[in-house]
Amino acid sequence: MLNSNGEIREPNKAALRFFGVEQAEIEGKDFFSFQAKNDEVISKNLAQRFKLNIPINREETIMIDKNGKSKWIQLSIFDMQNPASKTRTGLATIVDITELKQLDRAKTEFVSIASHQLRTPLATVKWYTDMMLSGGTGELSEKQKDYVSRLYNVNEDMIDLVETLLNVSRIEIGKLPIERKPTNVENITQSVLEELAPQIAKMGLKIEGQYNGLLQNVESDPKLLRIVIQNLISNAVKYTPQGGTITISFEESSNEKMVVVADTGYGIPKEDQDRIFGKLFRAGNVVKMASSQGTGLGLYLTKSLMEMLGGTISFKSEENKGSVFIITL
Ligand code: ADP
Repeated sequence: MLNSNGEIREPNKAALRFFGVEQAEIEGKDFFSFQAKNDEVISKNLAQRFKLNIPINREETIMIDKNGKSKWIQLSIFDMQNPASKTRTGLATIVDITELKQLDRAKTEFVSIASHQLRTPLATVKWYTDMMLSGGTGELSEKQKDYVSRLYNVNEDMIDLVETLLNVSRIEIGKLPIERKPTNVENITQSVLEELAPQIAKMGLKIEGQYNGLLQNVESDPKLLRIVIQNLISNAVKYTPQGGTITISFEESSNEKMVVVADTGYGIPKEDQDRIFGKLFRAGNVVKMASSQGTGLGLYLTKSLMEMLGGTISFKSEENKGSVFIITL
């Protein structure tokens, strides 16, 4: 139990065992003072949230026991108002998830190593198929050209997937460095559009760029921002039917810099909207389409990157009308 100041009252046996203490050692102490103070949890100001009466439901954080050992926990605090005395107490439940976290990290490290190892062979396939397609190994028959370009295209998809897996695992392990420097968002957008030109042409999509000379020099990490913009534009391309329009606009005011990617595509069904940034999640309407391929990792990665860069991402969408994704830098 916690009182309204977050002080521990009547800890039960499991809590004493968790912290490795006797009752007298923690009774009356500030519960949140046991929270670790490293970068991973510093942003989660749970003490403040508790005091402001904001629900804490299955939040993952790190706590330190009496011996200084860090433990990952899942914390929920159930608010219990006592209408008679008007006092507020909280029932804190702590689930020790340290082992799960260790396993999860081992899995993530495995994915990271495996993806890294896949890069070289994929690059080799790209190099040779590219050489064959550009005539470097002699003239190909139409049939050979068709087969080799299929190989080239599936290999490109695989390269994208491996890069996404690598980036997701780097973020989860906390090994994706940020390198901020002056960044030209228009150049990034143009290079993404050039890369996607074949798909855009195939679908007969119209691209409208309303850059207005803005965002030519913002402080950001160009490599990471490119991944974000690439994901948003490639989603707009993937999820817009033949002949649709994609509008990319920049907005800049004294306190906000935004990139807005709007499409006239399939949209996201209402019931799926609050899970769209979840890992591996794909909305019901596109999963049904045989032509649509994806992993459900792109927006998860995009959101994580925007958080790392100190920005935000949001969207509005209506099924069969289109979607608008907005990032603030
Ligand atoms: P993927 O595109 O690989 O499936 P993402 O994580 O990039 O994965 O996107 C998750 C899901 O969000 C997509 O499967 C799709 O259902 C939905 N989505 C994302 N962008 C759009 C968009 N512009 N229009 C419609 N649906 C979208």
